[in-house]
Amino acid sequence: MNQQITYEGGCACGAVRFRASGSPIRVGMCHCMTCRRVHGSAFGSYAIFERGAVTMAGNTREWQSSEQGRRHFCPLCGSVAYMMYADRDEIAIPLGAFDETALFEPAYELWCKHKESWLPQGVRPEYDEERTH
Ligand SMILES: [Zn+2]
Ligand SMILES: [Zn+2]
Repeated sequence: MNQQITYEGGCACGAVRFRASGSPIRVGMCHCMTCRRVHGSAFGSYAIFERGAVTMAGNTREWQSSEQGRRHFCPLCGSVAYMMYADRDEIAIPLGAFDETALFEPAYELWCKHKESWLPQGVRPEYDEERTH
């Protein structure tokens, strides 16, 4: 039997639910203009899992937010549900979608050229734009 830890969460109205198994590949924050807008917030924060580690229930609508980015949201309540990539076997789940708080701490920040000046600086590695792998 697989005894891996699981994390559950979903959208604000409960129509979309997910369960992620194991540890995230990475956890980060993003200050890009798209993340700002979709979250209606100063930044987005995500736990990125392998796509196969996450099971989903409920319908989402999807839109193409960048060449490879596919953002899914709940059509009932509008919550950001998750993000997938056409060219990567990964799924990015917003930290605010998990049922519990303080599960994960971001290890880096992307698109800091758009970071609000009132946010703490220098807490973790900051990249002007995308992370260079
Ligand atoms: Zn919903
Ligand atoms: Zn972003």
